[in-house]
Amino acid sequence: MRMLVKQMGRGYQTNCYLLVKSGDVLIVDPGIGAFEWIAANAKGAVAALNTHGHFDHVYSDAILQKRLRIPIYIRQEDNYMLARDYCNTGMQPCVADVCVRDEEWIEIGAFRFRFVLFSGHTPGCSMIEFEDRIFSGDFIFSDCIGRYDFLDSSASDMKRSLERFMDLYDADDRALYPGHGEPTSIQKAKAFVPEFIRALS
Ligand SMILES: [Zn+2]
Repeated sequence: MRMLVKQMGRGYQTNCYLLVKSGDVLIVDPGIGAFEWIAANAKGAVAALNTHGHFDHVYSDAILQKRLRIPIYIRQEDNYMLARDYCNTGMQPCVADVCVRDEEWIEIGAFRFRFVLFSGHTPGCSMIEFEDRIFSGDFIFSDCIGRYDFLDSSASDMKRSLERFMDLYDADDRALYPGHGEPTSIQKAKAFVPEFIRALS
């Protein structure tokens, strides 16, 4: 069965996605204001996945854990960001149920995916890769890359991650669903990524 992707309506700054397949629902990046929308649209939720630990992507994790009793997944390197309300946004702290440490494929319900690490924006910033599409978080947007000037960012890691992106997805044109803005594709991103690699050199 094909996977259906629902995106929380415009007006919110951060994209939250619901993936629906065979009655199971996966949540990607439950950010600020996402809980009500998720509760209304995510009957059959099996887990919530975070592309990275910034508050605008993980804000609703704690309430999902408590109210929907679903596990939260994030890369190990960003787990510390869930533990404290670093930006004083009113975010409830929590601890992830699964800290992903490698790039093995994970199966939950009807879904199969893996976290591919592209550190730079944050230490654990990842793209969440499904067989037919990829959620790129704040690593790759429709016409630019994510910021690498935050306290926990690394410009040198970002450069290495962009180089890895160019190598890893050589003959691949899956759709990319970023954490902000409109969807794009691997091939469209590969047209502008070399320019950013040069700027970081
Ligand atoms: Zn971010």
